[in-house]
Amino acid sequence: AKQDGRHRYRFFSHNIEASSRARLLLERRMRDALERDAFEVFYQAKFDARSGITRGMEALIRWRDESGTFIPPAEFIPLAEKNGLIVPIGRYVLLQACRDARRLLQRGLPVCVSVNISAVQFREEPFLAMVERILDETTLPPALLELEITEGVLAHDIDAAGGILGALKALGVRVSIDDFGTGYSSLTYLKRLPIDVLKIDRSFVRDMLTDSSDAAIIEAIIRLGQALGLELVAEGVETEAQAEKLLARGCAVMQGYHFCMPMPFEQICQRLQTAMAG
Ligand code: C2E
Ligand code: CA
Ligand code: CA
Ligand code: CA
Repeated sequence: AKQDGRHRYRFFSHNIEASSRARLLLERRMRDALERDAFEVFYQAKFDARSGITRGMEALIRWRDESGTFIPPAEFIPLAEKNGLIVPIGRYVLLQACRDARRLLQRGLPVCVSVNISAVQFREEPFLAMVERILDETTLPPALLELEITEGVLAHDIDAAGGILGALKALGVRVSIDDFGTGYSSLTYLKRLPIDVLKIDRSFVRDMLTDSSDAAIIEAIIRLGQALGLELVAEGVETEAQAEKLLARGCAVMQGYHFCMPMPFEQICQRLQTAMAG
């Protein structure tokens, strides 16, 4: 094998070889993690900053490798989208999130769970049938499920996407546009498609107090959302000052480290119980 490796160096540049090897290794570890059930789902709550009312929670995948270290989604989701593993991974997250939301409901906490859906998943699988099957299987009321899609999903084939979104709407599932403002699709889809929520991307929130362009973009998104009757959620809110400014501008629902860190199910359960009691 060593001989082989040396031989191949003559044809591939060191960097390409090293990075494709790292990719293959990561891919193998991902398949292995799926088999060993090594993925977990964490949850981050969203709150109405005005009333303190819980407005839902977002499911975020976590991968703890053999040594116990977390591998961030930004490192493996893009690769999983390329090699198709996002389909079984995404199915796992959706199933787990629906199960957990159902358990919360059973404990007297009707909290809507948002699940990130990759564009690949949205297109490749008999996606709608899968969502219906999981809702049936878990007996989660569809109104307690929200799917977060990005503008890229819509840019690809707006008519096909529209058909699926219409069917989701008919089921009673909510749809939000994640990372709003960072994509490249036209805004007409907001008028044509049954969308419920715009999530203001955290890159705008991060610099809104120091960068006047970011502040202006946030204001424009809020006004657009209000004019179209959409709910608004600001993500990545880390400070009280950001929260105050967003509230003053008319965006009340917030998600971010300032309010709640992503955490395992049992912890979010306690956190939400406390929030509801208080
Ligand atoms: P996203 O959907 O925009 O999720 C929000 C990300 O921001 C999460 O990172 C979350 O932990 C982080 N975050 C939350 N509050 C704050 C804050 O106040 N400050 C900062 N700096 N960050 C905050 P995470 O969990 O590392 O996920 C990164 C991205 O990976 C997600 O971005 C999403 O695009 C993707 N992802 C995560 N889980 C899934 C999944 O189950 N399926 C798919 N398709 N994508 C996922
Ligand atoms: Ca998201
Ligand atoms: Ca986001
Ligand atoms: Ca994102």
